[in-house]
Amino acid sequence: MFGKKGKNVQPLPAKRRDEMPNVKEGLTFKQWKAKHAPTHKWRNKRWAVLILLNTLFWASFFFDISVLEGSLSGSRFFGIYLMDIFNSLQQILIGIRTGHFAMLTMNFFIGLGVIITFYFLVGGRTFCSWICPYHFLAENAEKLHNWLVKKKKIKEHNYAIGVKYIAFVMFLLLALLTKQLVFEDMNPVGIISRSIIYGPSVLLLWVLALLLFEIFHTKRFWCRYVCPMGVAYSAVGTITPTSVKFDLDKCGHCRDCQDVCLVPHELWFVKRGEATKEVHFTGADCTRCGLCVDTCYGGALKITVKGVEKLL
Ligand code: SF4
Ligand code: SF4
Repeated sequence: MFGKKGKNVQPLPAKRRDEMPNVKEGLTFKQWKAKHAPTHKWRNKRWAVLILLNTLFWASFFFDISVLEGSLSGSRFFGIYLMDIFNSLQQILIGIRTGHFAMLTMNFFIGLGVIITFYFLVGGRTFCSWICPYHFLAENAEKLHNWLVKKKKIKEHNYAIGVKYIAFVMFLLLALLTKQLVFEDMNPVGIISRSIIYGPSVLLLWVLALLLFEIFHTKRFWCRYVCPMGVAYSAVGTITPTSVKFDLDKCGHCRDCQDVCLVPHELWFVKRGEATKEVHFTGADCTRCGLCVDTCYGGALKITVKGVEKLL
């Protein structure tokens, strides 16, 4: 059988009943879940960071202080330049097409280098769950979507996760052909970020339409299947040392972690009889949001940094 990573790896034998974590604690599966109820530890930390950073953008503009100036497309943090990767890719392509490279200054490349280094270390899509204001809204809208599904008012719709790579190429081609940052006019991340900093714009209606579509039709449509910013960050964080570590021995195979995950394919190994090793790590699409860690009843999942794990 082929493992999920495309390698010809045999899964380990499924656990026997006496090897299940609830049986080891002398509990039924229901009692075990009730004893280790989910927490909001990582979610609270994450939301605090997200709200703080987005407030800092606003405060720096409003009070004219040099703390975090600009927006999520391009900014300066205490004078250090920061450039969003996908925005930079579009600008480079437009520069190549038009022959005008005035925007591509040394500070532009320094900003891009700082961001690439940072997200390589913390894991690519960390931006999504720890900084992106659209993720924050969509994460909360998802609760309403889940409630509607549970009440059988709507059905779940899922598509191939690879669709986002088509969107990534399409938006780059649009920049190349039109010589404009077309994506930025429909990017909910930039729209919300600019609205927080400079005041609301009519483009917020587009963001609202997206959220309504996600609530009533496809869960997390933008983040899962479209956002090229997420694709760019995940590419940078592919071989990051920071990820979620899975310990097969502690897993009860309830799969509740997959239910709360934006990218459940990253947790493929939690399904009974699928893991090919005792320890697995999540990959590049994982946003390091910690929702799965907060949910896991057996403590089988934890955010870790390879190499310094013992110090943490
Ligand atoms: S890792 Fe996932 S499937 Fe396994 S016990 Fe934890 S929440 Fe359940
Ligand atoms: S695997 Fe866990 S940390 Fe990664 S995105 Fe899913 S829920 Fe968040």
